[in-house]
Amino acid sequence: MINYGIYIHFPYCIHKCSYCDFYSIENLNSRNKFIRHLTNEISLRTDEFSSPVKADTLFIGGGTPSLMKPHHISQVFESLHKHFSFESDSEMTMECNPGTIDVKHFKAYKELGINRISFGVQSFLDKDLVFLERIHKPDDVSNAIQIARDTGFENISIDLMFALPGQTIEDWKYNLESAISLETEHISAYSLIYEPGTPLYENYISGQVKIIEEDLDFELYSSTHKLLTGAGFEQYEISNYAKNKKYCRHNLKYWSSEEYFGFGPSAHGYLNGSRYWNYRNNDTYFKLLTDNSLPTEGKETLTLEQKAFEAIYLGLRAQGLDLTKFQNDYGIELANNISKKIKMMESDNLIRYFDNKVILTNKGYFVSDNITLEFARMLK
Ligand code: SF4
Repeated sequence: MINYGIYIHFPYCIHKCSYCDFYSIENLNSRNKFIRHLTNEISLRTDEFSSPVKADTLFIGGGTPSLMKPHHISQVFESLHKHFSFESDSEMTMECNPGTIDVKHFKAYKELGINRISFGVQSFLDKDLVFLERIHKPDDVSNAIQIARDTGFENISIDLMFALPGQTIEDWKYNLESAISLETEHISAYSLIYEPGTPLYENYISGQVKIIEEDLDFELYSSTHKLLTGAGFEQYEISNYAKNKKYCRHNLKYWSSEEYFGFGPSAHGYLNGSRYWNYRNNDTYFKLLTDNSLPTEGKETLTLEQKAFEAIYLGLRAQGLDLTKFQNDYGIELANNISKKIKMMESDNLIRYFDNKVILTNKGYFVSDNITLEFARMLK
């Protein structure tokens, strides 16, 4: 029986960060209404499944879910428990902005079952936070983590961002060392992406902001690996590091193409072999749910070739591509077809190849898209 993942998108933020492409609005007034419609969506989407549906991961993201008041989150949990049966060791993550921390809220989250906090830190330098238009200050981070620890959270993650315009290797090392000193169980380190439609992208197009040089990008990436692994973290995905195997189990579901429910405006889900995505607009979301209609904007069922490509892409970025499993799952024999390439990539120190499994090296992770394409060519 499947244990599903659950993703909930909370579509509100105090202020839009300049680089952010996630759906959220700055007017918080409709939060109560959102929670009502969200619980209706949970009920409608689970209707066609025999009840209760089993689940073992929950990820509340957004947006800024830490803007949910205790009564909001308690309504959400009431609805979740009505329609899902959670494993006793379920991972339940809540994304929090270090600028919106409230002790009472944290206690309520904990009591309701949240057991993992993911803080969107991005940087410990004021100039970076100003550039990114984050609402928090560097000092807010240690304070927020202390509150989370005092409340009893034993699984905490920090998100950091590198490749910011003007960022030096010293800046980045300072950020990594600051993160390490907070002794969290998990660190994600993402490269800044210039998403079309964001103010950052407009500034890039108009020439006000310049992308950093590729050599520096590689140096920043390599120093991440060196410092974090040196501090006892294991890299288990291209951008993710964990201590003591405290991987993000919810994200592992995405990376291994397991099924999950997505609730809330703009949320994506993957159920019965089909992907769906919700409308990226609160008004449309509210209107459809008022009529007891699902807020699904689109749906697609992946072809075998698309699924195989995803397995290559996700496998290489995460815990490796098992060529035997791949052949069993998709009936496609990659190893023989690509054996020369595999040898070349091995001698270039881009991959490690053993037990018919391909695992990227640190150098290989940096060019993972090119390596994915080399493997994907064999699908044609
Ligand atoms: S707080 Fe997070 S979700 Fe909100 S705008 Fe900033 S990056 Fe986006």
